[in-house]
Amino acid sequence: LKKKAKKLDSLAHEVKLAAVLGAGIMGGGIAYQSAAKGTPILLKDLREEALQLGLSEAAKLLDKRVEKGRMTSAQMAEALNGIRPTLSYGDFGTVDIVVEAVVENPKVKQAVLAEVEIKVKDDTILASNTSTISITHLAKALKRPENFCGMHFFNPVHMMPLVEVIRGEKSSDAAIATTVAYARKMGKNPIVVNDCPGFLVNRILFPYFGGFARLVGSGIDFIRIDRLMERFGWPMGPAYLLDVVGIDTAVHARNVMAQGFPERMQEEQPSAIDALYEANRLGQKNGKGFYAYT
Ligand code: NAD
Repeated sequence: LKKKAKKLDSLAHEVKLAAVLGAGIMGGGIAYQSAAKGTPILLKDLREEALQLGLSEAAKLLDKRVEKGRMTSAQMAEALNGIRPTLSYGDFGTVDIVVEAVVENPKVKQAVLAEVEIKVKDDTILASNTSTISITHLAKALKRPENFCGMHFFNPVHMMPLVEVIRGEKSSDAAIATTVAYARKMGKNPIVVNDCPGFLVNRILFPYFGGFARLVGSGIDFIRIDRLMERFGWPMGPAYLLDVVGIDTAVHARNVMAQGFPERMQEEQPSAIDALYEANRLGQKNGKGFYAYT
């Protein structure tokens, strides 16, 4: 097994320059982590405000590292310089890996992946940070599906060590090896998993959210459930976690899971989570979800 892993590692391409598509909660975190660990990264979004938000979040995290003495101000400036915000694909011809982190919608992701594929080198690896959508399905939009795999980070990116590297039906060993090596370079602990809706972690997490939504639907206060799960020893309860994830992202991901595993996801719809979505209470990203944030 060790020999096999070594052989796979030897197929990795060096990542000198990366890119991330989408400067939201995840894209901003991925850009920060990549730059802080020494790999410069292009950060692309459709909107200038999103880029500024992603950059200011990264700057805040870097500031904290300086405060804690984990980084000098000069290293902070270098890391910030390593994040190159852009609204165009102008410099994509030189990147070695692109991490797609746009909204959790299969059609949008397929369109964005097909669009970026024609802007990059023939051997650039494309990796999706999708939470739930099958990599084999997303790959159908690509001319070079062998260069594509999943690279699923967890939120908040700078704190969560795990990265799921997802092998789609057509993902090549080089794509997997390059993504694993890049995750390690970012200080993460990657595991390679097979493809299916939700991969590994979200096949556990989304049924849990479903159970939570059913309890709330039966009249139990969500704050009581959060307090109980904290007493159980988890760092936060499901309502707070949903606010961190983003209610919109959770609803989109839940829909993908419900389609993939209807028998496991027998959630009553519309649930408390759908009601928040309808009311545009998207969680911490817009200051109100289950809880209100100032
Ligand atoms: P978000 O809503 O915070 O950000 C999405 C960003 O993508 C927005 O800034 C939007 O402007 C941008 N965008 C949309 N279309 C684009 C395009 N064509 N080109 C460039 N940018 C575009 O969402 P998020 O929470 O960062 O989630 C992004 C992805 O990461 C989703 O697939 C989600 O499932 C996944 N994910 C989310 C979490 C989480 O906890 N939020 C965890 C792991 C994975």
